[in-house]
Amino acid sequence: MPHMNGTELGLLPTMGVGSYASPSWLLAARRVLRAGDAGPADMEEAVQDAIKIAVWDQEEAGLDILTDGEIRRQRFLWNVVEKLAGLKLIPAQRKLGVTSYDSAPRFETVERVSAPSGFGLVEEYTYVRTLTEKPLKVCCPGPLTICLPITPKGGYSGGDYMPLLYDLAELVNRELKQLVAAGATFIQVDEPSAAGRTPYLPVEDAVKLFNKTVEGVNAKIALHICFGNNQGRPAMKRTYKPLFPGILEAKADQFALEYANREMAELELWSRYGGDRELAAGVVDVKSMYLETPEDVAERIRAVLQHVAPEKLYLTCDCGFSASSRGLARAKLHALVEGARIVRGEVR
Ligand SMILES: [Zn+2]
Repeated sequence: MPHMNGTELGLLPTMGVGSYASPSWLLAARRVLRAGDAGPADMEEAVQDAIKIAVWDQEEAGLDILTDGEIRRQRFLWNVVEKLAGLKLIPAQRKLGVTSYDSAPRFETVERVSAPSGFGLVEEYTYVRTLTEKPLKVCCPGPLTICLPITPKGGYSGGDYMPLLYDLAELVNRELKQLVAAGATFIQVDEPSAAGRTPYLPVEDAVKLFNKTVEGVNAKIALHICFGNNQGRPAMKRTYKPLFPGILEAKADQFALEYANREMAELELWSRYGGDRELAAGVVDVKSMYLETPEDVAERIRAVLQHVAPEKLYLTCDCGFSASSRGLARAKLHALVEGARIVRGEVR
């Protein structure tokens, strides 16, 4: 397994899952841009400054591995889907009331999808690399996630999802190889806990698709399996049971899973099936306004350590902070690092 930017990590390394909270002034700048009172150069300046803030907050909290906070991607997925050619926008069918998954626009294919200028991850990586010496992780939505708002029509006969999913896997694979060529050594693919979702895939098929997505990508690979975090709400039944043990056929060095918001349920699946893989355990609940104390976090870490060897354990949050306010996100990162520090003292 490649070392991460030549830096040896200590025991129980800490990191976010991927996205970080946008500073309030960036949200205001986006509003100004939409109103026509700012130009693309103004926005680029604001976005670069916000990425600096995201890196700064993570470094200040003391995380061992950083991300660029996915600041360029609004709401995690939107900007990635926007890079695809061959789609027709279907305006949201429900716009009033509570904003959620069904108030986002959908897309239909009009031809086979392509990404003529990639997904923009290489630009994200090369910029954040200039900002810090610390190890970095780059996250990319996988084909199942990218496909969630897309219905196959034109270019895909009979509305079959599989050819669309494999086209997306190929596009992601190309992007990941370019990331490695640009120097990325740790890549996380984000996928939903597919069971029960449209397009529904049996675990074996989801694993085949994942392995195709990371084929020939020479980096440490993590798989984050998520229940969804739109506006802090999950979209799926919050159980990993249907995925085990089949999901371990996925060619991932590490699995990043949600535990904190499920009161640490199903850790026994890991001791039963996890084997030699690394677990990045979610020990901070990003979907709750409750701010964990370091001792709360330490207690969760101790629970995880009943099921995984300390040298195989990374500590993270359940999901990204894209649906959190910055102040809370920042405080939760501090709690994560402090909680890890308490337990490191116990396991040495
Ligand atoms: Zn997630």
